[in-house]
Amino acid sequence: MSAEDTSDDGPTGPVNFIRHRIDADLAEGKNEGQVYTRFPPEPNGYLHIGHAKSICLNFGVARDYKGHCNLRFDDTNPVKEDAEFIDAIKKDVSWLGFEWAQLRHASDYFDQLYAYACELIKSGNAYVDSCSADEIREMRGTLKAPGTPSPYRERSVEENLDLFERMKAGEFNDGEHVLRARIDMASGNINLRDPVVYRIRKVNHIRTGDTWSIYPMYDYTHCLSDAIEGITHSLCTLEFEDHRPLYDWILDTLNTPVHPQQIEFGPLLLEYTLLSKRYLLRLVQEGHVDGWDDPRMPTLAGLRRRGFPPAAIRRFCDLIGVTKNAAWTDMALLETCIRDELNVAAPRRLAVLDPIKLIITDLPEDHEEPLTFQNHPQDESQGTRQVPFTRELWVERDDFAEVPPPKWQRLVEGGEVRLRGSYVVKCESLVKDADGKVIELHCTHDANTLGKKPEGRKVKGVIHWVSARHAMNAEVRLYDRLYKTPNPSPEDDLDDVLNPQSLVVMPNAKLEASLATGNTPVQFERLGYFVPDSGTSATGQVVFNRVITLRDTWAKS
Ligand code: ATP
Ligand code: MG
Repeated sequence: MSAEDTSDDGPTGPVNFIRHRIDADLAEGKNEGQVYTRFPPEPNGYLHIGHAKSICLNFGVARDYKGHCNLRFDDTNPVKEDAEFIDAIKKDVSWLGFEWAQLRHASDYFDQLYAYACELIKSGNAYVDSCSADEIREMRGTLKAPGTPSPYRERSVEENLDLFERMKAGEFNDGEHVLRARIDMASGNINLRDPVVYRIRKVNHIRTGDTWSIYPMYDYTHCLSDAIEGITHSLCTLEFEDHRPLYDWILDTLNTPVHPQQIEFGPLLLEYTLLSKRYLLRLVQEGHVDGWDDPRMPTLAGLRRRGFPPAAIRRFCDLIGVTKNAAWTDMALLETCIRDELNVAAPRRLAVLDPIKLIITDLPEDHEEPLTFQNHPQDESQGTRQVPFTRELWVERDDFAEVPPPKWQRLVEGGEVRLRGSYVVKCESLVKDADGKVIELHCTHDANTLGKKPEGRKVKGVIHWVSARHAMNAEVRLYDRLYKTPNPSPEDDLDDVLNPQSLVVMPNAKLEASLATGNTPVQFERLGYFVPDSGTSATGQVVFNRVITLRDTWAKS
């Protein structure tokens, strides 16, 4: 974590049951007073905001207890893993504001893991099973019925060692043999019914190439990687709770010099999203979104492109806390964190998304008046800028009404309104096209109202504008929640649960010229927060993404 960011959590960080456990360990003098953690993603997809919770927890604990946190790629399944994901994950962790002590890979330990497996065989704690995957599954039993021992369970140590070495040497095909831990086929915990620890996979690995024909399983690899790295607290989500006895059995049986403590916590379940790499992959592959970094995706790459500040995500992770159970978290909480952060940081700018021409007929054609605007109403240090005021302006189409609803305070024919930071104008007449659509508003202005109230009357409405001659054309993408249902499940039919309004494109937006530079979020006054996109539109225009609206528009719906 960089120095400027450490103020987030105060000196000790957010209190939670894991920190209480660590405090207790320290009080007992365990682990020589050290706290070492790791964040262990499998490089089979992009990180999502659920991972941010785990990252903030693991790196945050290490920071606050003056320990360290490793980034470790759990790269034991070469079929699904890809170097693209490794690079993306490193980028995302850094972007979130954390620095790993060491960059490790489970594959760094393949030799050691192999040696440990031979030890298990020699002590009678592992055997080569030559049953098929289906047979093994069938013999595993159920929650109610115990498993059946494999006919190969009693193979001699010599035979097991010989077969395992030949598995390694590539003599057999995928699925012909596996190495299983020899634990307890009648255990109430199915994970302990002789779990597979090695399988044959004749595929190239992203780091070890074709060196290996066998690869260790996740459960076997994870605890040993933790032990090899000297991790003291191995923090993971609840689904691993039933795996903890296996985690402990492997370390106890091998009598490793270090025995890390696995502690489970509730995963983040965020409303209006589904946080699972497999599921996110489906959205990408079926084309419901435009890639892993689509600004509607809950991936960190998507949130970054969407303009979510990393400090706001860290703040969100602090606020949701860490508990033993999983519960749905309100999307509004994340959005509030984003708004709070941007409200303080984002400079204000003028932009019109759905433009209609407003012509001030009592100004000369070449009128150009530089007006001074504050960049931020509450932050003088952000300074000021000049915005040109001219005869022809763009204003927002829905700031004008031909037939105004009750209490309307914006522009109507014959009515007055203030143009933000400039004059009061009166709409004298309309110009319509052949279809009767209003295309121009012809106005006059009150020259006495620059920075002053008009005399003898009240003008309440204020609307924003952009000088037509100076405006920059842009495509603005209005993003909203990807799902319309708060608690989507993997079983849902996507057509029923995806929000058809999650992306609305405004192809003809007009932006104040100062927006041509910069790449951080800004507030378009009255509209929301927006950020330039890295790409351009199909027509080659600048693109801005809406980060978030100014207010929660879902609360009322
Ligand atoms: P997959 O869907 O492929 O299983 P995943 O989303 O569970 O992937 P992993 O690579 O298995 O991601 O997880 C890396 C780490 O992040 C693990 O320690 C895991 O416990 C944690 N993690 C995963 N999802 C969440 C979540 N929703 N909230 C908090 N932590 C999570
Ligand atoms: Mg997982």
